[in-house]
Order: sequence, then C-alpha cells, then structure tokens
Amino acid sequence: MTATPLPDAPRLPIRPELAHEEPYGAPQLDVPILLNVNENPYPPSEAVVADVAAAVAVATRGLNRYPDREFRKLRTALATYLERESDVGGLDADHLWAANGSNEVMLHLLQAFGGPGRTALSFAPTYSMYPEYARDTNTAWVAGRREEDFSLDPEAAAALLREVRPAVVLLPSPNNPTGTALPLDTVQHLLDVARTTGPDGAATVVVIDEAYAEFRRAGVPSALTLLGANPHLAVSRTMSKAFGLAGARLGYLAAAPALVDALRVVRLPYHLSAVTQAVALAALAHTDELMAQVASLRDERDALATWLLEHGLDAVPSDANFILFGKFTDRHAVWQGLLDRGVLIRETGPDGWLRVTVGTPQETAAFTQALVEVLG
Ligand code: PMP
Repeated sequence: MTATPLPDAPRLPIRPELAHEEPYGAPQLDVPILLNVNENPYPPSEAVVADVAAAVAVATRGLNRYPDREFRKLRTALATYLERESDVGGLDADHLWAANGSNEVMLHLLQAFGGPGRTALSFAPTYSMYPEYARDTNTAWVAGRREEDFSLDPEAAAALLREVRPAVVLLPSPNNPTGTALPLDTVQHLLDVARTTGPDGAATVVVIDEAYAEFRRAGVPSALTLLGANPHLAVSRTMSKAFGLAGARLGYLAAAPALVDALRVVRLPYHLSAVTQAVALAALAHTDELMAQVASLRDERDALATWLLEHGLDAVPSDANFILFGKFTDRHAVWQGLLDRGVLIRETGPDGWLRVTVGTPQETAAFTQALVEVLG
C-alpha cells in the first residue's frame, strides 16, 4: 500500500469533529518494565491457563454458530462474584451486563442515554476516555473540577448536576489517574440529587466506574451496596485489572434490570464472542487465587507510596493499583529518564504529576532504583 493519495481521489465525508483526532491510547513500547497502563503484572497461573484453554477448546467446537446473545451463564457468574466480593445480595443475571471491556460497557451507556441534545458530565482530572464516549455518541461533554486534593466536593458536584442537567454522570471510584475513591455518602448524596436532574425531569444515570474497586483499602464500601434503592445507578467493573485479564476484554456492570434492558437495545448482535464468554467463565472459577494476588498488590502499592513520601515526593493516597506522584517542574524529563533506564510509566494527569502502575516487587525495585538515578 502506498500513502500517496490517488489523483482525483474523493474526499472522505469524515465527521468534522473527528477530522483532526488521533486514536486514543498510551504508547505501546517494547520496554522491560511496563508500568504504564495499570495492568496486573501477574500473568494467569498455569492452572488458570489450563482451564481457560480447555474452555476455549469446547467453545471452538461450536464456533460455526453465533454465540449466546444474552450470555446469561456469564451474567449469573458475574452476579455471584459481585455478591461475594462486595457483600451484597439480590443480584442475578437480569442485573448484569457485559461487553468487550468496560470501555464498551460505558459506550453502551452513552448510546442508550446520551445522544444529540443530551450531556454527559464528569469531574477533571479523570479518565481521558470519557469525553471520547461522549464525542462518539454525539453527546455534549461537560467537565467540572475536582478539589486541590482530587476529592469531589459533594455540594459543588450537586450544584453542577442541577445546572447542567446531564443524562449521564461518570464518576470513577477510585478515580484514574489520581487513585481517589469516592466516599459512599457522596455517592448517596449525588444519587438523591440525580433523581430529577436528567433531561425533561428524568433522572441522571449515575455511573460509578469501579474498574479498580478490588484494590480499595479496607473500609471503603462499593457503590454496589446502593443498587437496591437506586434504579438510576450503574456500577461498572472490569476483569482487566484485578483478574489480570486485560487481553481478554471483559467489562461488566450491575444495575436495575430496566437499565440493563436499555443497554440490550443498543448492543450489536452477538457482541460478546463465544471465546470471550468461555475465557471469562473459566477465569471466574479461579476467583480466590486471583484475589490473593490483589491483596499482595495492595500491600505493594502501600509500600511504594511510603517509599515515595520518604524520598520527599508527593504521592496521592490511592485505592487503585497505581499511584499519582510528583510534583516535577519538568515531568517529561523524569518520564524520559525512566524510559531511558527501561521503565515505562505514564505521563498523564495534571501538570507536574506522573502515574506509575504497581508491579511485582522486582518491577517496583527497578522503578525506584531508576527514579533515584533520574532525580540524582
Ligand atoms: N475505567 C477506568 C477508570 C479505567 O482506567 C479503564 C482502563 N484504563 C477503564 C475504565 C477501561 O478498562 P477496560 O475497557 O479494560 O475494562
């Protein structure tokens, strides 16, 4: 293929708002220590590999057929997992939804509840994909601000809900890139306000994006505990982080059945492949083993935060598997210095800050050693 345009080639009718956009994504570089996209550093164990491979073999024998469009077996397994993980009751397949990563789950939310004439709201600094879901669904985008310490002021957030009247508010807990969890009373307050702040007096759909929830510190309850009384709440999760299955692409959410039904309308038919369903189900059977790794990553995170503070840096208290640290007058130079030493982290978030994913103890040691060298 040549990049040279053909003479008289017609102009593509690309949507004007996409004309100068680059595809989203962190650099995928071939570097020994990858601490840049909040992956789980532990590959699946041989026991998980064997069970996943066997399940995929069974699924493969039926690949001439389309997959189960409603994937109720997987939805039931996810409901059971959530009930256990967050100590809640009353969830079944009708409360669950899943797609190819929680990115797609949230796109479904915007497809169902956003659209022309409607607005999505979040609070910066936050996950940079949110405005892209809005753009791609022709939904207007408004970003409020977090406080200096990256917390959310419940009254200021409520005031913005009343002013903007969004169809959807996206609230990650813990937040990416800061690691800040939302207190449950803030979520409850916003749910109360959101009952009538949507379009035409309807509710605003409150999405609590709990992609990193399994890494939360003890005593931080999940928003799942609020589901029963709030039909306008959706709690989104993913198998990309705690389960160490980023490559499998399985995200999911829990919500009232009526909300899930709205997502069933906008999904493409058979969006979740038989292979994906088989992989997720097989991995869920290994929940206990995978959660033991989550506990060790939490300890590793807390040790790394202590190390950063002891070395005179700021580290934002984190309930996730990453830490935002700084502040640097030239953060790019620090990022580049680490990369030159084989350690890739993420240059993201407010100016002066960098984000590092919690890796294995060996990876953390490589990172801290390189950082000491870079900072002289
Ligand atoms: N939400 C947040 C806050 C994230 O940081 C990410 C991934 N970086 C996602 C959602 C999407 O993850 P996935 O599509 O892999 O489930």
